[in-house]
Amino acid sequence: MITKLLTGIIFLIPITLIKAQDTLYVAKYQSNKQCAISYTFDDGLLEHYTLVFPKFEKLGFKATFWVNGKSITEGEQGLQTKTPRATWDNLKTMAAHGQEISNHGWSHKNLVRFPLEEGRIDIERNDSAIWANIGERPITYCYPNNSKSPEAIKMASENRVGTRTKQFSLGSKATPENLDRRIDTLLATSDWGVAMTHGINYGYDAFKNDTVFWNHLDKVKTLENKIWVATFRDVAAYTAEQQNVKLDVNKKKKKWLVKPIFSLDKKLFKFPLTMVLIKKDTKKVSAIQNGKNLKVEVKDGKTMFDFDPNGGKIKITIE
Ligand SMILES: [Zn+2]
Repeated sequence: MITKLLTGIIFLIPITLIKAQDTLYVAKYQSNKQCAISYTFDDGLLEHYTLVFPKFEKLGFKATFWVNGKSITEGEQGLQTKTPRATWDNLKTMAAHGQEISNHGWSHKNLVRFPLEEGRIDIERNDSAIWANIGERPITYCYPNNSKSPEAIKMASENRVGTRTKQFSLGSKATPENLDRRIDTLLATSDWGVAMTHGINYGYDAFKNDTVFWNHLDKVKTLENKIWVATFRDVAAYTAEQQNVKLDVNKKKKKWLVKPIFSLDKKLFKFPLTMVLIKKDTKKVSAIQNGKNLKVEVKDGKTMFDFDPNGGKIKITIE
């Protein structure tokens, strides 16, 4: 009995002490949001431009569109009549608005069914086509037919922030109930959900009624303070950086000097990270990195600001 009581006390003390301590950490997601969702659209269908893009623009959301250069080009030549495709011009407009246009293989080549070298050529050809038509080199990749092997993942991941290795289908089986459950689960588990959609009203796995999808997006919009909706590229980069960065913190009363230690490729991984500071009786915090004042925000008693993991030391002043 006494032992049990003592164990209880011993466990209680450290927890209380930890709570009272000042903490500084890099948030799991941007702006310290609870979970993340990336909406991804495969195969470059015309409806992704005519329906999805305007809806996302209206909501201020960014999505990822994984296209095959061959079918986009064939569509422009009138050869994709059954499942009309977006044009390169459509995709360029979307990219100019911050939507991610990225690589799903030039000819949708399955990386497991074909020799890996053929797959590599197919991927590189699509990189070049997207670069030539849109002016951006893709830094993510999506496996045709979701087919992958460890060797294919290694090859496709070279010079990219991430590739789609997990996803949930958002199409013909979507109901208001299962989409609500999906949101609840993501919030409860703090996970990153990657939604995979092909057809909207036509094509593979199209919605029975697309209203379900538009209503779901409206609902996610109302939860925007908890859910980070961003392109696959941005969440993949953020997540890898967050897991890699270490903070060397030197605390001197009101002046804290924080040095981010970062070993990822600086050209590829340059997405800003969110730092969270919790300190009792804090009135005002300012942070400077590389001579620039960082924008400091206070949310739920937590002070936070975005910083550049490659940008050198951060001087924090706490009043
Ligand atoms: Zn596909």
